[in-house]
Formats: sequence, C-alpha cells, structure tokens
Amino acid sequence: MDFLRPTTWSEALAAKAETPEAVPIQGGTDVMVEINFDVRRPVALIDLNQVAELGDWEPMADGRLRVGAGVSYTRVIAELGDKLPGLAQASRTVGSPQIRNRGSVGGNLGAASPAGDSHPPLLAGDAVIEVESAARGTRMIPAAEFYLGVKRSALEPDELIRAFVMSPAAGPQYFSKVGTRNAMVIAVCSFAIALDPAGRRAGTGIGSAAPTPRRAVAAEEFLAAELDWTGSAPLGTTLLARFGELAAQAASPIDDVRGTAGYRRHAVSVMARRTLTWAWNDYREKAAACA
Ligand SMILES: Cc1cc2nc3c(=O)[nH]c(=O)nc-3n(C[C@H](O)[C@H](O)[C@H](O)COP(=O)(O)OP(=O)(O)OC[C@H]3O[C@@H](n4cnc5c(N)ncnc54)[C@H](O)[C@@H]3O)c2cc1C
Repeated sequence: MDFLRPTTWSEALAAKAETPEAVPIQGGTDVMVEINFDVRRPVALIDLNQVAELGDWEPMADGRLRVGAGVSYTRVIAELGDKLPGLAQASRTVGSPQIRNRGSVGGNLGAASPAGDSHPPLLAGDAVIEVESAARGTRMIPAAEFYLGVKRSALEPDELIRAFVMSPAAGPQYFSKVGTRNAMVIAVCSFAIALDPAGRRAGTGIGSAAPTPRRAVAAEEFLAAELDWTGSAPLGTTLLARFGELAAQAASPIDDVRGTAGYRRHAVSVMARRTLTWAWNDYREKAAACA
C-alpha cells in the first residue's frame, strides 16, 4: 500500500487525480478501523494531516463560516460552540475524547454513514459542502443533496472535501441522539433542529432512520406556517404532536441490531418534540429578557 503525504491542498488534489482509488485519511477513526478489520485494503492512502488549509476555520465576507474538512470535533466544540451550537452539541456525543480529538466533520462526510452525528445539524443549518478536483475545480453541494445512499455521497472519485460552509446560528439549535448506552455509541437514531425566528424558518435533520441522513421537509413547512413566531405563547400540545408526527413520517427506518423500524420512528417523533420544546423555551426566554 502506498502512503502519499501531500503538504498542500493542490498536491492533495493532484494525488487524488492521479490515483482516484487512493483513500484519503484525516483522523483515521473510520479508515484505520476498516483497514484493521480488513474491510478495505486500499492501493494507497492520501494522508491529509499536513494540508494546513483543511485544519482551520474562518468567517467569510458574507458572514458565513467556512470550516476546513480536517477541523476536529474537539475544536468544533471549543471554538464554534457559540456559533454552531447544534453541530457542537452533536460533536459532544461523538465517541470518546480520543475520537473527538482525531475525528473530523470532513471524515464524517467522507464516510457518509446514515448514523454520522454531524449530518443532522448540517442539514438543519443548511450547510453547503465545498468539494474540489484538480480537473473541474470547486463544487458547492447543499447538504440536502450530498447524501445519496448508505455510505454513498455526491463526491466524485477524483474529488476531495475542502470544507463545509454554514451560517452562524440565527436562533436556538438542538441535537438529540438515542443510543444503546450513553457514550461511545453509534446512533440508533438522532434529530437536529435549528430555529431562525427572524426568518420564520425551522430546519431539521434526521439521522440513522433512513438510508441517508435527511430533512423532514413537511415538518419544517408546518412549523414555518404554524409557529407563533412572536414567541409570545408556549407551544401548544396539538402543534407539538403534529410536528412529531410529520418528523416520524419523514423517516424510513429499518430493523437492525440497534433497534426496530417502529422504535426508530417513535423515537424520531419524541426527539422532534423535545428538541423543538428546548429550542422554543430558549427563544422565549431570550425574547422575554430583551423585552
Ligand atoms: C470508537 C469509535 C467511536 C465512534 N463514535 C462515533 C460517533 O459517536 N458518532 C459518529 O458520527 N461517528 C463515530 N465514529 C466514526 C468516526 O469517528 C467519525 O465518522 C469521524 O467523523 C471520522 O472522521 P476522521 O477524520 O477520523 O475520518 P477518516 O477515518 O480519516 O475518514 C473517514 C472517511 O472520510 C474520507 N475522507 C476523510 N477526509 C476526507 C476529505 N477531506 N475528502 C474526501 N474524503 C475524506 C476517508 O477516505 C474515509 O472514507 C466512531 C469511531 C470509532 C472508532
């Protein structure tokens, strides 16, 4: 197995163009497990750890944040917790401190597992994935179009993930995950919500309850139309129940070792109601404090 060690982004793109079957490795928390268990035996690895461009984040001129694919979960939590609270909350649930130190959102995107914890908040927050190839340059792929199937994404063989781009939270954001225990666990299912009271918009993301992470579009449209966006009233039970129902309807889970389809659908509905309640309470508290 060849081990390629580009030191710049253009060298990394050139290596991927020359050997499209080469496997990029960032934190290695997925790749090394697969190699150790002989799930894959790549002809070459492209180690991206020396590529400085991937390891940092920056605010863009339009106010959005561009977060390099190699930024670890630990840094997302420490440095972006106030700006991307939904993603930071999801990052806190990933693996253990060791996994969070090595693992990256870019790696989660590269693996494109339906159970990856970063996907629901990326979907809820309308993230865009920046990918690039030496031959065709940059493509910006909305998160909702990035996931194509179980562990399949819109990334072409000669492309690498450069970054994801996301607006700082415009309101409360929450993430909830059900696991078979409290830590070091793959999600049985998960749910993220992002409220934008000024834009009268709610974003959602469902994890591990369909072949791909996905938004609950009908549930989002329902909230946009039915929430009292002035924040003057608590959430009604009918509204909450309908939101949970629509979120569950957006899932298409399977039975597997971690849970049944029926359980997952039920849990998505519960998490949708819970995360909306947490987010709404935050919004109302803040609105009351400003009044
Ligand atoms: C003990 C343990 C616990 C875990 N717990 C969780 C958990 O709770 N939640 C969760 O979501 N995941 C979990 N994982 C999985 C893993 O940690 C995450 O998917 C992590 O985000 C992978 O990031 P990485 O940088 O280590 O990726 P790597 O292993 O380096 O790469 C992962 C995939 O992405 C590709 N890739 C990496 N960088 C790029 C790039 N720039 N461009 C294109 N492709 C790229 C690789 O080729 C590979 O296919 C766990 C893993 C372990 C071993």
